[in-house]
Amino acid sequence: MMRILTFDNRFTSELPQDPICETYQRQVSNALWSTAQPTPVKNPQILAYSPEVASMLGFTAADMQDPALIQTLGGNGVLTGMVTYATRYGGHQFGHWAGQLGDGRAILLGELMHEGKRFELQLKGAGETPYSRSADGRAVLRSSLREFLCSEAMHYLGVPTTRALSLVSTGDLVRRDMFYDGNPQMEPGAIVCRVAPSFTRPGHFELMASNGELDLLKRFIGFTIDRDFSDWLPTTGLTLDKENPSPELIEAWFEEICERTAILMAHWMRVGFVHGVMNTDNLSIIGLTIDYGPYGWIDNFDPGWTPNTTDAQGRRYCYGRQPDISRWNMERLADALSTILPNTEGLADAITHYDNTYLKALTSSLAGKFGLDDWQDSDGELVNRVFELMTRAEVDMTLFFTKLAEINITTPTIDTIKDAFYTEQGFKQFGDDMQQWLNTYAKRLQQSKLSLEQRMTKMQSHNPRYVLRNYMAQEAIDLLTESGDNKRLLTLLELLKNPYTQQASMEQFEQKRPDWARQKAGCSMLSCSS
Ligand code: AMP
Ligand code: MG
Repeated sequence: MMRILTFDNRFTSELPQDPICETYQRQVSNALWSTAQPTPVKNPQILAYSPEVASMLGFTAADMQDPALIQTLGGNGVLTGMVTYATRYGGHQFGHWAGQLGDGRAILLGELMHEGKRFELQLKGAGETPYSRSADGRAVLRSSLREFLCSEAMHYLGVPTTRALSLVSTGDLVRRDMFYDGNPQMEPGAIVCRVAPSFTRPGHFELMASNGELDLLKRFIGFTIDRDFSDWLPTTGLTLDKENPSPELIEAWFEEICERTAILMAHWMRVGFVHGVMNTDNLSIIGLTIDYGPYGWIDNFDPGWTPNTTDAQGRRYCYGRQPDISRWNMERLADALSTILPNTEGLADAITHYDNTYLKALTSSLAGKFGLDDWQDSDGELVNRVFELMTRAEVDMTLFFTKLAEINITTPTIDTIKDAFYTEQGFKQFGDDMQQWLNTYAKRLQQSKLSLEQRMTKMQSHNPRYVLRNYMAQEAIDLLTESGDNKRLLTLLELLKNPYTQQASMEQFEQKRPDWARQKAGCSMLSCSS
């Protein structure tokens, strides 16, 4: 028997509801949420779940096999205490204001309380809501598996993220035109149950500001500070008036959001994660990685790489631009907040704080990646030089850094890192330059106060050995969809729990991307269709 679950559902009990209770598509005003029921599916089957997330929520292994819970995770029922709803938000997509978006295929199940912690549960792909616009509210198995695996992998990399409880196949087919070439296919559908303390995005605030709903905007800020920033609030020494938070508090709060977002960006850059669709509706107000879509991982180091086919022309969301784009997103949030503040000085200071925080987090993470005792200004040149070489020579980012830790600093040799080069051609052309760089790098390390052991430990804790390379997720998808085999999915889930530690019999996942994956869909480029 599953324990009695405690839900306190503050979002729906404290914030105004859209008065219309039907699902048809519409513009909603002066409300934060609309009621929305998951649409039942044919045959929900649990393909995988995260035992750690289950236990964080208080579910036992037996609970995870309980038909009532599985039906709920597939959208075929609700448990006592749950409320089901979709929230209203807007957003800037690819640099342009898009108006109302909202949870078009994510349905919240309420706020579960366990051991004093709050968890919003959300089913992604559970059917239409008033915010679905012309789409079906569903998600395909391939994109759901990618979200499930990657959000767990990110957590174990130490990167703030939403979590995933379960991956459930629906038994229904979903129609998708994966290549946007007029050839839609029927694909298996799935639902991920995502978990986070809050799924609030900058887009929530932007939409109220854009519609002139300023009292509601103040009230929602008050609610967010009270519910989602309750640990932070006492550190400010300020008091919160929930209906009408003071300008001083709003500015301090915005600065905190900027800080968390900047730190998140330094993490993404450190591990080689590319989000792919950093619209202001796909960013978390509490600084988590959120909305895994056509994301990707850097194989050969290339700041200009984007996994998203829709972004192939503009490269707005490529790896190297992510910190700037987040800053731009913070500016859009500042625009929204400026509608209720007497002046914009505090907001501008917070943006400066974003820059300073990012620089500090970046240099500290680079010092970790390169095993430097501290960061000196001259290290910028050293690091930029090798990034340039890695880009031009096609060098694998993950492998490069794991090998770099093995360099002998008295007699550094390129052989140690040769394996990280993707092509013979690249090695021939840039091998000498790389050897020269290694010599300079070794000299720098010789001046360092770190012992060999300290340096190794530092580098190993900043440089993952295993990341969810695009082709690895794709192989798990192919096995599951072609032969119903979820073993690879479970192997990866287990492997990625310890991304910094070498694991026995897992050599195949420590290699650079295989040649066959260079141009394959899902491995090099990903479509937004999901
Ligand atoms: P995204 O950029 O994927 O985060 O999605 C942008 C907007 O489109 C959000 O409002 C989503 O809820 C909505 N959306 C994406 N896919 C679907 C779908 N299959 N059905 C309904 N709404 C969707
Ligand atoms: Mg989204």
